[in-house]
Amino acid sequence: MTPYHFTLVFLAALALSTALRLWLDIRHLRHVRAHRDRVPDNFADRIDLADHRKAADYTVAKVRLGLLEIAVDAIVLLALTLGGGLGLLDQAMRAWLGSGYLHGLALFACVSLLGFVIGLPASLYRTFRIEARFGFNKLTWPLWFADLAKGAVLTVLISGPLLFAVLWLMDVMGSYWWLYVWLVWLATNLLVLFLYPTVIAPLFNKFTPLEDVSLKARIEALLTRCGFASSGLFVMDGSKRSAHGNAYFTGFGRAKRIVFFDTLLDKLSPEEIEAVLAHELGHFKHRHVIKRIALSSVLSLAFLWLLGQLIDQPWFFAGLGVGADGTASSMGTAIGLLLFSMVLPVFLFPLAPLTSGLSRKHEYEADAYAAKQTAAADLISALVKLYRDNAATLTPDPLHSLFHDSHPPASQRIARLQTPSPSGT
Ligand SMILES: [Zn+2]
Repeated sequence: MTPYHFTLVFLAALALSTALRLWLDIRHLRHVRAHRDRVPDNFADRIDLADHRKAADYTVAKVRLGLLEIAVDAIVLLALTLGGGLGLLDQAMRAWLGSGYLHGLALFACVSLLGFVIGLPASLYRTFRIEARFGFNKLTWPLWFADLAKGAVLTVLISGPLLFAVLWLMDVMGSYWWLYVWLVWLATNLLVLFLYPTVIAPLFNKFTPLEDVSLKARIEALLTRCGFASSGLFVMDGSKRSAHGNAYFTGFGRAKRIVFFDTLLDKLSPEEIEAVLAHELGHFKHRHVIKRIALSSVLSLAFLWLLGQLIDQPWFFAGLGVGADGTASSMGTAIGLLLFSMVLPVFLFPLAPLTSGLSRKHEYEADAYAAKQTAAADLISALVKLYRDNAATLTPDPLHSLFHDSHPPASQRIARLQTPSPSGT
């Protein structure tokens, strides 16, 4: 491969994935708008037209902002790579810090900071305009700043040592560095998963044990029925930031916790809460979390191996606009890792239906489990309330959904819950 050919391959992939993203979003906009004035038949008696229209307008507002972000992302990526931005940053850092590990860390910090600053207006607009306009935002400026500061400290504490370890391993471990980096990466991920429920999440939210005695008894009966050991039921003050409701599982082994957003408990009846929890238990019973961790581990090993092959190729750097003046062979590990992580998503986006399809399959399995352990009707009414209260659209564009949705469209999910499962399974 020559640098010139690789530039063409990169440009073609960027054009393809950007065009695909824009096309899918525009289809989605049109589809949602076209169905704005009529509630789908199977929801007609549960959701009124005003709520349906609100969901359409909310979706349109979010997708329109998303279109702008897709364009900005593509421009920034081009400016940093072929536009020479990354090369300039690299030279500036080198002149200032020499070419040791500090240079590598500073380069990553600069690019992350740049990404944050460029993404900031859209992020603020999303929270303080769109979410606020539809009545979801509860975030205040002081809380926003506090979150930002805590997030920044956590990023430095976790990513800093990880990145240092990765750059060091890439330097000293010879041609099998990618294997060692993979092991360190896995260990860090497991550590974060382990620390998340008891150390990280409480930095941002308050978790109080579930107090409602009758609800607790109901849930504990369900847990026993499903053979699930947990070290606690917690309520999280999600209403501090947003009116959106949710429930999730976190932690490992016996330290598993079940967390309900206070916003969810306010909206659903005890039967519906039980059904939502049974769905979450379905994910656990089918080992979805473990399967997902296993899949991402295998993929990350493959990507690291690929980077191991690319990082010794001058055409990889020069083709992406770095070191095209003949210095590409001595570009170093930090910029190689950075380029790779920036460019990889461009090549992967067309494969998104595979991962989101897997996620939708898992949702169906968890729904089927919930329907067996509780009443399907309770899960259906919980889902309808959640779709309504979260202003989630009932009429997504099918192709857009295929690429982007981790959950099946509402109508298909509910239709499946309404058909009795084959007996005896
Ligand atoms: Zn689920």
